[in-house]
Amino acid sequence: MAPDALFPRNTSFALLRESQDTRVRTRLGGIYYLLAWILTWSFSAAPGSMLVLGLAATAFFALMMVMRWLHRLPAHENNECLRQWIDRHWALILLTSLGWGLAHAWALLRPEFEPSRLIATLSTVAFSTAMAFNFSMRKRRCVVAILLLYAPGLAVLAWQWPSQEALAVTLAFYLSYLLLALNRSHREYHATLTMEQQLVDQRERYEQLSRTDSLTQLGNRLQFNSLFPAMVANALRQGTPLSLVLLDIDFFKRINDEYGHSSGDACLSDFAERMRKVFRRDSDALLRLGGEEFGVLMPGTPLDEACQLAERFRVELATRGFELHGQRLPLTTSLGVGCLDAKRNESAEAFFKRVDDALYRAKAEGRDRLALALS
Ligand code: GH3
Ligand code: MG
Ligand code: MG
Repeated sequence: MAPDALFPRNTSFALLRESQDTRVRTRLGGIYYLLAWILTWSFSAAPGSMLVLGLAATAFFALMMVMRWLHRLPAHENNECLRQWIDRHWALILLTSLGWGLAHAWALLRPEFEPSRLIATLSTVAFSTAMAFNFSMRKRRCVVAILLLYAPGLAVLAWQWPSQEALAVTLAFYLSYLLLALNRSHREYHATLTMEQQLVDQRERYEQLSRTDSLTQLGNRLQFNSLFPAMVANALRQGTPLSLVLLDIDFFKRINDEYGHSSGDACLSDFAERMRKVFRRDSDALLRLGGEEFGVLMPGTPLDEACQLAERFRVELATRGFELHGQRLPLTTSLGVGCLDAKRNESAEAFFKRVDDALYRAKAEGRDRLALALS
């Protein structure tokens, strides 16, 4: 069974990080567009004479700010939802950029804005710089946003050529720098993301390795210790059965003593392989609990089904034995089988002890047999 995923299933790490970064970086941005506009308008020569347009632009930037703020990340973090959220959020970013680009152009065009024109131009430079460094995750969209911020103002300056020649040339130079900086910032963002993804993958691999028994490739005791209480809690909550089979190879020490430790190892691997063939459900967790002791956790499986499978395993093992260098050696196992008693709200410890006691009985009663856990 796979270890707990670090990220929700169906969610790519890159999309999740991109949407989180976009959300964090855009949250404060809206208010600066609103402030920049209010300053440009109120420090103009005659704010009162442009009341309707002034208020309309204020309302627009306020609306954009609120919409960006309210547009929260989707509750269901699957790829489709995240992609849709990113697209919609970019629509808001581009709309705000277009709004500011037009406001800047208007401020350059109308003589009333003479005293506050510098505020609008400086804000355009600041917004496009912030865009190039903070929203470089999507290069093409970011280029469009920067052009929307810049182009209307540049068009007005070009139209007013040659009186605005110096400003137009300076802004055009700065624009070229921003586009180069965006290119680099885009590469760096994705390189960092790739590195983080590799670290996450590596951590998952190590996590998986630390929970896997290297000889049999079954889950180890650590895996059992984390899975078992979780499965018990889940079964109690959902009212579904949970069966546990404990297996201990009979007289295993003799194999080691007579044929050597490596033959013992081969026997353990073979035993695990047979377990995989019998306990085949995806939800079954197959574990090596230590030495020559194994366990199978079977969520959603009632006692009679678990017994049938366990008995089938016992009979097949006893019939076939263990093949070593072309020689057939007898091999048997004792088994304890039980099902969680949900009615009595049984604890994981009590459940394990019942099944372990059953295994002990199977041994005491002569081995190569299955004993049911007493309730
Ligand atoms: P019983 O029927 O009572 O279970 O007898 P047994 O011999 O199977 O049980 P016992 O506990 O006396 O011996 C278990 C042996 O398993 C002793 C130990 O050396 C051996 N063993 C434990 N882990 C490994 C392993 O990884 N490889 C090998 N080859 N042997 C192991
Ligand atoms: Mg043992
Ligand atoms: Mg044993």
